[in-house]
Amino acid sequence: MKITNVKVLVTCPGRNYVLVKIETDEGLYGWGDATLNGRELSVASALENHIAPLLIGRDPDRIEDTWQMLFRGTYWRGGPVLMTALAGVDLALWDIKGKRAGLPVYSLLGGKTREGALAYSHCSGESFEEVEDCIRERMEQGFKVLRAQVAVPGTHGTYGTAVKRGEAVGSVREAAPFVEQWEPSLYLKVVPPLFEHLRSTLGDEIALLHDIHERLNPVQASQLARALEPYNLFFLEDPLRPEHKESFRLIRQHTTIPIAMGELFHTRWDALPLITEQLIDFIRCDIGHIGGLTEARKIAAIAETYNVQTAWHGPGDIAPMTHAANVHLDMAIPNFGVQEMTFFPEATQEVITGGPYFEDGYMKVTDAPGLGTDVNEALAAKYEYKSAYLPMVRRFDGSVHDW
Ligand SMILES: [Mg+2]
Repeated sequence: MKITNVKVLVTCPGRNYVLVKIETDEGLYGWGDATLNGRELSVASALENHIAPLLIGRDPDRIEDTWQMLFRGTYWRGGPVLMTALAGVDLALWDIKGKRAGLPVYSLLGGKTREGALAYSHCSGESFEEVEDCIRERMEQGFKVLRAQVAVPGTHGTYGTAVKRGEAVGSVREAAPFVEQWEPSLYLKVVPPLFEHLRSTLGDEIALLHDIHERLNPVQASQLARALEPYNLFFLEDPLRPEHKESFRLIRQHTTIPIAMGELFHTRWDALPLITEQLIDFIRCDIGHIGGLTEARKIAAIAETYNVQTAWHGPGDIAPMTHAANVHLDMAIPNFGVQEMTFFPEATQEVITGGPYFEDGYMKVTDAPGLGTDVNEALAAKYEYKSAYLPMVRRFDGSVHDW
């Protein structure tokens, strides 16, 4: 079998997605996702102009060799653009391998270790009561784990609370980026009382977590972690910037709260010191930005050795193919922890069909061969790319802060 064509499809059924179709001389094809939120066309260009020509004529069965060729063989390596492009190719090749074998990808990865992947969704609000209401609604839906974020009084546009402001999180915003306003002192004041409220009204049954989104310095993160200890969090997510791996030691010295980190990492080497020094409890790389399943399964294996569990990134800005890859891997590995999930809007589900589904608190995949996703290309063509940016953050004095 030989690769005969690599098609890159940019579509915007609600938000922008970069989809990769790899076609073969035997009629089998696979779909991957190469979406990098806010930098979509960079990845599309890398694939079309630089990577696709290297794939024509190759055997699609040789996934590891293709991965090594694109990562090491081309000399320039790593970074969000190239690792997202590589993930798109990698997922399409796993999809082809599964279809060729007549088996779902989880079967090729060793077979099921569980019946479903424990899932979490997001809850947010302008007030504690709004967050509580959102959690009660999600619990009714069957969720057993939920992320809780609340607007920071005195600022505007707090991360993770956009849904309650009537905007879809990360939805397409034309022209300039939306600018949020944020102050660490105000944020640190509001988060512990939020969880005090949630535990006093909801009890201990629901597992709760919170995302700092890499915005605190090491001492602030340690202070917040200590303040949240009484509320029994499932984990505290992304406390520090991805550059500051050594600073996780400080958080560990001050608290036993479980820590999750990794959505801004691009290779297993980014994740390595946090895992081998046991500075985190959950590794939450984005399979779509670390080079796909081939890299993620290696990270999972390293993490297993050090008793670290997985919590792969699962936002709406990666396409259902990556969500499918998340769940196929979750189903096969022994050290799965929890899976962030998204309910995609109808328009997205019409363009990208199949993918994982939610059932009573768990994400599941069918036993369809490959990743179990497909694309309605005619419909996708009707949703043209729209220029879009992620929001930015500035502090009260006008200086840039990490979004
Ligand atoms: Mg996050």
